[in-house]
Amino acid sequence: RFGTAAALDEPITPPVEVKYTKLLINGQFVDSASGKTFPTLDPRTGEVIAHVSEGDTEDINRAVASARKAFDEGPWPRMTGYERSRILNRFADLIDKHSDELAGLETWDNGKPYEQSALAEVPTLSRLFRYYAGWSDKIHGLVVPADGPHHVQVLHEPIGVAGQIIPWNFPLLMFAWKVGPALACGNTIVLKSAEQTPLTALYAAKLLHEAGLPDGVLNVISGYGPTAGAALANHMDVDKLAFTGSTETGKIVLELAARSNLKPVTLELGGKSPMIILDDADVDKAVELAHFALFFNQGQCCCAGSRTFVHERVYDEFVEKAKARALRRVVGDPFKKGVEQGPQIDDEQFSKVMRYIKSGVNSGATLESGGDRIGNKGYYIQPTIFSNVKDEMEIAKDEIFGPVQSILKFKDIDEVIRRANATHYGLAAGVFTSNIDKANTLTRALRAGTVWVNCFDVFDAAIPFGGYKMSGQGREKGIDSLKNYLQIKAVVTSLKNPAW
Ligand code: NAD
Repeated sequence: RFGTAAALDEPITPPVEVKYTKLLINGQFVDSASGKTFPTLDPRTGEVIAHVSEGDTEDINRAVASARKAFDEGPWPRMTGYERSRILNRFADLIDKHSDELAGLETWDNGKPYEQSALAEVPTLSRLFRYYAGWSDKIHGLVVPADGPHHVQVLHEPIGVAGQIIPWNFPLLMFAWKVGPALACGNTIVLKSAEQTPLTALYAAKLLHEAGLPDGVLNVISGYGPTAGAALANHMDVDKLAFTGSTETGKIVLELAARSNLKPVTLELGGKSPMIILDDADVDKAVELAHFALFFNQGQCCCAGSRTFVHERVYDEFVEKAKARALRRVVGDPFKKGVEQGPQIDDEQFSKVMRYIKSGVNSGATLESGGDRIGNKGYYIQPTIFSNVKDEMEIAKDEIFGPVQSILKFKDIDEVIRRANATHYGLAAGVFTSNIDKANTLTRALRAGTVWVNCFDVFDAAIPFGGYKMSGQGREKGIDSLKNYLQIKAVVTSLKNPAW
């Protein structure tokens, strides 16, 4: 049983109310120019949580104008780094103070377990802002020696108005990864949240204003991708674009950026990450780690370990234990204590995952557990495991973005390196072994932006994250993300007296 009973209970009343549903432009909550709204739905039931103002091109134009003014006229880009850091630190304190509301809204809008929102994601949110507060007054250029009588300074300046488009799977963390470094560097922002999860970005942005952020520095537009998102990517007055979402949409926004004003773009896209279990593995621990690598966040992680490669010597034992673990996974109302897995985000994702489960069965993989929905309302799916998965099957190639683990067998390291790398993606990889030489070989051979050894999904504010190949361009978090939000200016001054 998958905690089915819990999922079928009457949904628990969320311990939070929705306060902000309008667009945030120039420090004010305002209606959309069209007056239109769209419903944001509770993934537990499919019922409406709230109607949210629907931004479109005209609202993006207003928001960009407000960000432009805040950038050109200040004070934000001209404040000292220390002043900016104080505001970001105050914001982090407010996040901690309001963590219950933020976690409640995040779970309500997204469906992820409340314990995950409250104990992991909201504390990570404030940690990320403290990390970037720490950078605010440490961003500086260089003085470089040059041939000839010249004094050469390399200045690091904010890049300008940043357009940021975020997805629904980690609404608050994606907000932090984008907004934190952009603000630390002195930029102004127009952020478009995902249409499935607009609530927490509005709440967090309100807290940032309470912390002292000047009006116009951060504008938040709720709305759909092809309208509001595309208008942002296409805008002539946006100086930089940061996007997280599907590879398909990444291509669209890159093209829009190129066709408009050639704004530089960073992309965090999809993945089909290998999780490799070697033959020396403690199978119980390997099962637990691989389970976490795939099922965490309902399997809705761009870096999910969605191809579990297991050495043939431990394969049978692994499959049996992985199945037992999946059957023990507690699925249910995400507000209920002890629940490990809530519903998928929406009907579209639910249907997509169910289609892939059918595809797995039809292609001849062995369905070890799950395979069905739970209950008849909301978007709950049984933790599903396929063994005997072959590389050419759809479930081994495509990003499923759901609770479906595909287990593949391998014989030796060279073979698994070749197969693990045989994908257009390259976001992450996991390796489980106690053999340091094998670990070193794999970490160097795997073509992925992150390789986790004997761990998975470790996200520290200081660790850069991003993809090889079609998983993206550029890195977020850490020192690397600052580069995305800085312009570099060389100032060359003729020296009157080169001897000095
Ligand atoms: P998506 O790429 O369509 O959406 C991500 C963001 O882009 C949202 O804010 C959306 O409104 C916006 N967007 C959509 N179309 C746009 C356009 N034409 N121009 C500008 N912005 C646009 O992702 P999705 O439809 O929510 O999910 C589809 C698939 O994407 C998932 O099944 C999953 O495979 C993948 N995904 C990946 C991540 C990730 O973190 N890498 C996150 C969410 C979804």
